[in-house]
Amino acid sequence: SAHVDVAPFDGTGRTSDGHHIELLANVSGGAEAADAARAEGVGLFRTELVFLDRHEEPSVAEQTAAYRQVFAAFPGRHVVVRTLDAGSDKPLAFLPAAREQNPALGVRGYRTARARPDVLERQLSAIAAAAQAEGADAWVMAPMIATAAEARDFAAACRAHGLRQAGVMIETPAAALCADEILAEVDFVSIGTNDLAQYAMAADRQSGPLAELTDAWQPAVLRLIRLVGVAGAAAGKPVGVCGEAASDPALAPVLVGLGATSLSMAPRALDAVAAALGAVSREQCVAAAAAAAGASGPREARAAGAAVLSSTA
Ligand code: PEP
Ligand code: MG
Repeated sequence: SAHVDVAPFDGTGRTSDGHHIELLANVSGGAEAADAARAEGVGLFRTELVFLDRHEEPSVAEQTAAYRQVFAAFPGRHVVVRTLDAGSDKPLAFLPAAREQNPALGVRGYRTARARPDVLERQLSAIAAAAQAEGADAWVMAPMIATAAEARDFAAACRAHGLRQAGVMIETPAAALCADEILAEVDFVSIGTNDLAQYAMAADRQSGPLAELTDAWQPAVLRLIRLVGVAGAAAGKPVGVCGEAASDPALAPVLVGLGATSLSMAPRALDAVAAALGAVSREQCVAAAAAAAGASGPREARAAGAAVLSSTA
């Protein structure tokens, strides 16, 4: 239950046998970042939320100021900034989209940079300026990537701005299936389980009646995550999970077993996730992942994962 007492997160995520799993926070602005400062860093800074109510694109100076607030809350620590994820469930007034029959399958996320490369350029300038001003360890990633070519173009744009850690989100099945090729182009990836489940299961993430389909415990979703974890290990590059799945303390060890090297979550989930990881060995995580991914459905996956994790290794 939500009221089980757990020891507070001590600032370093690890399994019972001492494997470090970075536990990071999802934030959407400076105030939230200040509240999240006990996390090891930020695994997902959703920049579009800073600008949701704006009718004109914020200037580079305004953007720089907003990004500096988040970097300032995590001095010297790792902060992953996501470039604008406009469209579909996150419409932005200053980036008007054409009317589309299927906005979730339309021009959204990184795809908006095709028509408006200038908006991405200004955002990358602002991120670079903010990182420089704060001496931040800034990592930058693009949302809604479907091909290795998009990953290559985004990484080139980041490097042109002197941003040295360029990554992409894995939130389409295409990106998960091509994780090897994508990882060859970037320094890290981060799995967005909210959209990955939506697109894998062809079920709207905002639909209540379809919630069982968009459950991250769906074996199809777990198997896609495993593809990315295996590709990340082969490439020797970090694989984060930053969707809501990372804040489920029962799922966190399974994600680690599937190959996640960091988990980024709502700050209130840090204690429970840290406690869940600290109670199990890495070997148990791997066994739980195999059991859950091999299950016949989400309920069976939960039961299989829990059975492995509650057994003493
Ligand atoms: C996701 O899709 O899982 C994700 C982290 O991004 P968002 O929820 O902002 O789409
Ligand atoms: Mg997403």
